[in-house]
This record gives sequence, C-alpha cells and structure tokens, in this order.
Amino acid sequence: MKETMALAKANAKKFLRNYGIQKPGRVDVVALANLESIYVQKGKPGEALGRICYSGGEGVITISGDVSLESQKRFIIAHELGHYCNEFSGRELFYICHSEYLYNPFMKNIHEHEANEFATELLMPEEWFITLVKKKPLSKKLLDEITGCFGVGLSAIAMRYAEFGDYPAGFIFVTDGKVRWCKFNPSFPFGYVPIGTKVSNFSYAFEFFEGKEIPDEPENILADAWFLNDRNYKKDFFIKELVIPMPNYQSAMVMVWS
Ligand SMILES: [Zn+2]
Repeated sequence: MKETMALAKANAKKFLRNYGIQKPGRVDVVALANLESIYVQKGKPGEALGRICYSGGEGVITISGDVSLESQKRFIIAHELGHYCNEFSGRELFYICHSEYLYNPFMKNIHEHEANEFATELLMPEEWFITLVKKKPLSKKLLDEITGCFGVGLSAIAMRYAEFGDYPAGFIFVTDGKVRWCKFNPSFPFGYVPIGTKVSNFSYAFEFFEGKEIPDEPENILADAWFLNDRNYKKDFFIKELVIPMPNYQSAMVMVWS
C-alpha cells in the first residue's frame, strides 16, 4: 500500500509540474480539470459527494448539491482528479465517491485512499506545507493561516499536519459525540483511540456536543479524556486540547498535542 500511495503523491507532483505550478498558494483545481477537458458541474442534493465520468477524451466531475463549502468542493475536485491521474488507462473511468471515502484514514478501499493522497498533495504540496508550518506553534491561528494559503478544510489539514507538522500532535474527528477517525503524528506519545468511542466528559468536545460554550483557546486536559485504551496511557498526564466546532457536519475536530 505504501508504494501505491507514494505513486499517487508522485502523480500529483507531476501534474503540478506539467502545468508549471511552482509558486506556493491556492491551486486552481477547476482550471486544472478544464485543461484536461474535464468539466465541473453541480449535482443534486442527496447525491454522492463527488463523481467522475471520463470517456472519449473528455470527462465530467459532479459535486453534490449538498456541498456548499468552497474548501470541500476543492477537495472533492482534487480527489476526482486523483482517480483520473492515478487510474485512467486510456479507456473509460467512472467513480462514485461517498462522504466516508474522503479523508477517512481507516477506509479499506485502496483507490479511494490513493485519490485522497493525490488530492492532499495537489492542494498542499509537501514542501510548501512544511515551509509554511515550520517552527510555528500549533494554534487556531496557524490552522486559519493554512486554510487561507491553500483553500483547504480542517480535515485535510489534520491529515497533512499529522504527517508533516512540526509538533507532536494528533487529530480526532468526532461526529454526533462519537470518534469517527483519528490520526496522530508518530512523535505524539499516544496513537490509539478506538473508533466509535463516545466522547469523555474529560474533553471539551463533550461540552460542545451538549450544546455548551467551549473555549476557543487550547486547554490542558488529562490524557484520560482520549487515551485510556492506549498502551502508553499514563495516569495524571496532561495534554493540550483544542476543540474546533464543525457545525456543518454535526462534528468537531479535536486537536491534541503534548
Ligand atoms: Zn473517490
């Protein structure tokens, strides 16, 4: 799997290089799709988040009518371009991509993983990302800066930061009070939260799902909030936590670091 992921990343780098995109910033994914004779259209509400259909030298990417956030649209277009660049072999290509295929590091489907890897590299090339976050403390301000620079949403940033960030950190994505996925930098002391775990009342995420006000600055919390099942669990160990509400998805992104 590692090899095919490296190939997906290399495909994204090549795609940017082919179009002479060298300056860090917001990549115009619609223009890139158009240059490949792939047109982007809005679909109906209730449809899968993204679809790509390519045949006879041209294609269409359809974004669900439910998608309103620009950052999410950009990620979906980049993901569909990933299917095209990773897998098109001269014949037809057709993919229907549901919300659980995007971002989720635990998903089993390799082609969806590769499309996400391509999208992440296309929107936030590794070198540009590392330069932007270097020696900057992890904070809401930094996340806003990354969003402003690359036009990506929190989930995509979380994936990338867990891979290349300067600080030992982790990200836990919680929907309706339960852990949906998580990703941790290898240097973070903990790395395991069972999927489906209910949010503990040691975490500020608990307050968020209770509809209460939560701090918008990091707070010190006990590691018990998330890592009771981790093999490195330690009693009375404090970590920093910042809960970022994502009300459009009935979710919150929980950022933890030591
Ligand atoms: Zn897909």
